[in-house]
Amino acid sequence: MNKPAPDWHAAASALRIDGRAFVGGQRVASASGETFTKTSPIDGRVLGEIARGRTEDVDRAVASARAAFADARWAGKAPAARKKTLQRFAEKILAAKDELALLETLDMGKPIQYSLGVDVAATARTIAWYAEAVDKIYDEIAPTAASALALITREPMGVVGVVVPWNYPMIMAAWKLGPALAAGNSVVLKPSEKSPLTALRLAELALEAGLPEGVFNVVPGYGHEAGEALALHMDVDAIGFTGSTRVGRKMLEYAGRSNLKRVYNELGGKSAFVVFDDFANTERAAKTVAGSMFFNQGESCNAPSRVLVHEKVADRFLEVVAAEAPKYAPGDPLSGSAEMGALVDEGQMKTVLGYIDAGATEGARLVTGGQRARAETGGFYVQPTVFERVRNDMRIAREEIFGPVMSVIRFKDEAEAIAIANDSSYGLQASVWSDNVNRAHRVARALRAGTVHVNQYDEDDITVPFGGYKQSGNGRDKSLHAFDKYTELKTTWLRIDAA
Ligand code: NAD
Repeated sequence: MNKPAPDWHAAASALRIDGRAFVGGQRVASASGETFTKTSPIDGRVLGEIARGRTEDVDRAVASARAAFADARWAGKAPAARKKTLQRFAEKILAAKDELALLETLDMGKPIQYSLGVDVAATARTIAWYAEAVDKIYDEIAPTAASALALITREPMGVVGVVVPWNYPMIMAAWKLGPALAAGNSVVLKPSEKSPLTALRLAELALEAGLPEGVFNVVPGYGHEAGEALALHMDVDAIGFTGSTRVGRKMLEYAGRSNLKRVYNELGGKSAFVVFDDFANTERAAKTVAGSMFFNQGESCNAPSRVLVHEKVADRFLEVVAAEAPKYAPGDPLSGSAEMGALVDEGQMKTVLGYIDAGATEGARLVTGGQRARAETGGFYVQPTVFERVRNDMRIAREEIFGPVMSVIRFKDEAEAIAIANDSSYGLQASVWSDNVNRAHRVARALRAGTVHVNQYDEDDITVPFGGYKQSGNGRDKSLHAFDKYTELKTTWLRIDAA
């Protein structure tokens, strides 16, 4: 028999948050004793006090990570042993799924059923997948002359700093923790100050699973304090960063100003969704774009926020989108049935409403939405919003809004569609919709983006790389390629004397 669904409101009221950092296998207060208050965007309730990490806290965490790496308590284990520990970690994540989902929803506002079915599930799967992979990867021997043997091996980098955003707090962390830990590194994770709760629990669960003390540390705090200290640290070998292009730029500067640590940036997006008039099922394209755009409150790096539609099918397409959008109207994130939840905080809500004003002022036509919603709850909700008659030089077409706002642009022919789609500083994802197989391939090749979808937008799997062209970043999360980021390539030459 299925277990009855938890009463999420009762569970939320009963929660007691431990906001202390996690260093050297223990919960610790910040060195200064300072905290910051974390409130929930769903209704403004206070969730708890969180340790405010600064340079001294980062120094302690990095020292703990370095000590763990230096004595090889983790890196020195056989890959099969690391696999077993990380598999147990994934099992512990699944066993704690209700608690983790609740923390994620209260912290950043997404509907509970998605925290549970998407975020927790993908986090566990990511850890389990890298665990499974690590004892199946072989190193190489180069095809040299018989007088020598050249081994090409991969070694862990050492101490990896991980800095992540708040939109998928656990998944973004797992995409880096999975390969970094499986490869034998020690990690210091700095979650977003807007969503620190699940990161702290993940570190406890990893310890319970048998990950040695000091291998996985978490220092919560603000970006310009804990984040900057980590990225400037002289004893951090690499930074796995996911966040805005603005901060990604700083990450490169910090590396230049410190020890030239490797910086892997996974940044923003303004993904183009291109619908041609030769795609017969306009309705399916329109329903897909609404679902993908408004999922996670529009707070997805790969949200298809620039929708390019051939002028012949634009009216029909907009009719369907206008009917679909209200189905994503925000509701109570703890109800288990809301399609959209709260934006992460008041600042983000104001930013999104500011872009909605800008769209109207610059001459785009508001098709639906455009208002704050559920203000009486004390939370930060915005209606699913669609603009059309957007020009690609408007701010709502050029800048990442990171909220539930779709910009629809009309085009006349294939060349124009490709030119508009590529006229962006971003290049994270794109999508082309056409029943003409030649056109679909031609346009997919022409689009400058790390991932291109054809006639769908939903496919996603840990087996494929995820990352951007241009100012959407330089790294690739997911798949076996992610190991490249957290390992050094070593060449070892051996001389073989003739008998
Ligand atoms: P953000 O750049 O403001 O913050 C990301 C992280 O960096 C947070 O932990 C923050 O505390 C930290 N940070 C901020 N300032 C810093 C500084 N000066 N030094 C060091 N660290 C600092 O981004 P956000 O608002 O949390 O997240 C939204 C952004 O993330 C969007 O641009 C979105 O597209 C992007 N994102 C990208 C991907 C991807 O895979 N490409 C995935 C999810 C989100």
